[in-house]
Amino acid sequence: MSAPKTVLGIDHVVKRFGAATAVAGISLDIRENEFFALLGPSGCGKTTLLRMLAGFEMPTGGRILLDGVDIAPVPPNRRPVNLMFQSYALFPHMSVRANIAYGLEMERLKKPEIAARVDAILETTHLTALADRRPEQLSGGQRQRVALARALVKRPRVLLLDEPLGALDKKLREAMQMELKRLQHEVGITFVMVTHDQEEALVMADRMAVLKDGRLLQCDTPHAIYEHPADRFVADFIGVMNFAEGRVVDGGVEAAGGVLIRAGQPAGLAPGAAAVAAVRPERLHLFREGAENSVTGRVEAVAYHGLDLQLHVRTPLAARPFLVRLTADDADRRPVDVGDEIRLGFRAADTRLFAA
Ligand code: ATP
Repeated sequence: MSAPKTVLGIDHVVKRFGAATAVAGISLDIRENEFFALLGPSGCGKTTLLRMLAGFEMPTGGRILLDGVDIAPVPPNRRPVNLMFQSYALFPHMSVRANIAYGLEMERLKKPEIAARVDAILETTHLTALADRRPEQLSGGQRQRVALARALVKRPRVLLLDEPLGALDKKLREAMQMELKRLQHEVGITFVMVTHDQEEALVMADRMAVLKDGRLLQCDTPHAIYEHPADRFVADFIGVMNFAEGRVVDGGVEAAGGVLIRAGQPAGLAPGAAAVAAVRPERLHLFREGAENSVTGRVEAVAYHGLDLQLHVRTPLAARPFLVRLTADDADRRPVDVGDEIRLGFRAADTRLFAA
């Protein structure tokens, strides 16, 4: 198999606003046809990076390459890169069809070609039946699809999306996550999405970059980042993680009360160094043979979530109670109630170690 082709090369890009550094030297390769997410807490620089890709901001340093060519001299409207705004910015007095056709009319394409392309994209975005309505006659999700259709009809090389689902309520948001993914797959255009919502990035992205303070902490598939976060911040930011502080010893960490927590992959930390062991809620089980690690704790809260049971378990390992997700099977084997003392087991292979 040939190596995936890079569409956007982000090469040591820096952006300063006066004394403030919004992007502090980021390098990333975004590939052909992938759904790429830029993820990080507020102020991490993700929007600034997206705006530089669109051409609305110029990098202070570094280069942005599109298909290997530096696009610094290319103004936003000449870049084969489209930015879809969170506010959608639809023309209120125009029909859905006219909104979508507008960009092609500006390009002075011939009428039959415009009609054919608009019809095709209306079909792809499931908007054909709504083509003659105005934006005010649409729901939030439908408006969002119009904004997408308007961006996609121009067949950009890359579509940039700034918190595309931010304005939608939870249920619609979840439906649109799948919808956007389907669309991206169908049109075969590279999508770069900015989000602060880690769940959204996990669900939608083929690969994602986690940023903090203008720096890149990790870039990989959602699965790789979830299972093997690069550091404590990423481990905490992506999904839920239980932490136990301690000191590095042979084979793991000595945590509070002298408990040895074994970890599968010692992180190259010096013996005696301050470290933290980390384990996901779904990797904690009611103790059974084969688990190298165990701890006894008291159940403080139980919440039923349909597929699983979530427990808060107070252990000597950490100030915060551990969050435990038991499968329905596990919970059937041993009913658990608030106040119960239970023994939790977890495997060394499921335990990560980070510098504290
Ligand atoms: P959010 O999720 O809150 O939008 P973000 O990760 O997208 O955050 P950016 O908008 O890229 O963050 O901002 C990164 C940093 O750069 C912030 O500290 C912000 O205050 C600063 N910044 C962004 N734009 C400007 C500007 N035009 N002038 C000065 N500082 C700016």
